[in-house]
Amino acid sequence: MRVLVIEDEKRLAATLGDLLEMDGYNADLCYDGESGLDNALTGIYDVILLDMMLPKKDGLTVLRELRQAGNATPVLMLTARSELSDRVAGLDSGADYYLTKPFEPRELLACVRALTRRQPELRTPDSLQFGDLKLDKSTFTLVCGSRSVRLSRKEFDMMELLILNCSQVLTKETLLVKIWGYESDAEDNNVEVYISFLRKKLEHLHSTVRIRTIRMVGYCLEQTAS
Ligand code: CA
Repeated sequence: MRVLVIEDEKRLAATLGDLLEMDGYNADLCYDGESGLDNALTGIYDVILLDMMLPKKDGLTVLRELRQAGNATPVLMLTARSELSDRVAGLDSGADYYLTKPFEPRELLACVRALTRRQPELRTPDSLQFGDLKLDKSTFTLVCGSRSVRLSRKEFDMMELLILNCSQVLTKETLLVKIWGYESDAEDNNVEVYISFLRKKLEHLHSTVRIRTIRMVGYCLEQTAS
């Protein structure tokens, strides 16, 4: 799951990013409303943390423009102000939840979890299955029969996306933004490198599942006859 943090207090933004990463999310940080909105509009985020007072474009405007563009990503508004009028304005603009600064890390994580739970299609079970493979979320392992192999974080994210989207072809671009983030320096060949890591692991597991390359398009999982 990928979270966008739009917060101009850089230390707070960094702390939020660390908290989210420790809880297993990927976090991208933006420090003003304009770049925050641009990122949010990519539609790659599962939750957005949005500060109210921001340079270039304030939080309420960002939220309003995001909703006007048809983007329904759950938004958690962060604000130092606790006046009722701000909360009402935020909720009117389409905020899903409010958190008043300062807040407890646990409180924040509980809100993020609640917001991701509200979207059933985003809820990821503890393990995913495809063919003879089981991807275990709690241990970051890929299991096939009696064999298992541990995955790195990026390998895990990639395998998860491949399984969740097993009925379609995933483009390199999709994998790149979903795993490395929108503003990352990662390039297409990062995707190729991790695909090759995963293929080696599938071989090691003696799985009947293969990652098929669709030339000029991307990748998909397929089951081969054993
Ligand atoms: Ca602020």
